[in-house]
Amino acid sequence: MRIAVLSGKGGAGKTLVACGLACAAGEAVYVDCDVEEPNGRLFFRPEQVISRPVLRKMPVFDAEKCSGCRRCVERCRFNALVLVKGAPMVFGEVCHSCGLCAWVCPEGAVREEGLEVGAVESGRAGGIRVVTGELKLGEATGVPVIAAALEEAGDEGTVVVDCPPGSACPVMEAAREADYCVLVTEPTAFGLHDLRLVAELMRVLKRPCGVVVNKAGADFPELDAWLEAEGLPVLARIPYSRALAAASAEGRLAYRQDEAARRIFDGLLRRIEEAAG
Ligand code: SF4
Ligand code: SF4
Repeated sequence: MRIAVLSGKGGAGKTLVACGLACAAGEAVYVDCDVEEPNGRLFFRPEQVISRPVLRKMPVFDAEKCSGCRRCVERCRFNALVLVKGAPMVFGEVCHSCGLCAWVCPEGAVREEGLEVGAVESGRAGGIRVVTGELKLGEATGVPVIAAALEEAGDEGTVVVDCPPGSACPVMEAAREADYCVLVTEPTAFGLHDLRLVAELMRVLKRPCGVVVNKAGADFPELDAWLEAEGLPVLARIPYSRALAAASAEGRLAYRQDEAARRIFDGLLRRIEEAAG
């Protein structure tokens, strides 16, 4: 079963919940797809870590063969190509590595080369395999690294995906094949605003989902009213606790530090398993 853990913004407690679920499963794969800032490994401290680069295909143009016909420029759906002095030039940040320019070129003037955009690490922390995607600084999109991390994780047993924050393309890539999605929020106006965006994404992806309210306890009835109106189940409420906050700040796993947290995550995993069938 693949469980994706999402939140509309950073700092809502997504990694806390994803790590807690992996610990509750005992034997599991934890995949950190928050590739711009992967920090799950700081909690698990995996050993025997193996790293491999992630490459993205980029078109390279052969000036000798190119006739300047513009076909590649006109067909590129992402407007990633321009013709400069009769030769195509690619904007790497916009290119989606779709390969169409090579396919349509009548002169065979386009070849694809691998460009390193990040890395995927895999290691073990007891019964948990820890897979981490890490985007190279300055790269525009984490999608290829997320795809590589998910491929490395496989789909045997329980796979917990720590998604990037937000509701843009990288989040869709991380969550689109999940059996169940957990939306982490907090009882504030900002939390509710971001939760609405992620809930909208769930409708687009047609994934079953439920909500975890982190730092619960503060009075914010608008959140419960909205959840009820949307028919979104609350899977767990994690009360704010100084002990938990301190454990997280020191890179200690809440599940292994705190009996109350252990009960919450065990119950959460059970509810997800029941809901996902
Ligand atoms: S690979 Fe695709 S997105 Fe990139 S330049 Fe070629 S056609 Fe455009
Ligand atoms: S399609 Fe081929 S020949 Fe035409 S401009 Fe592009 S690279 Fe040059």
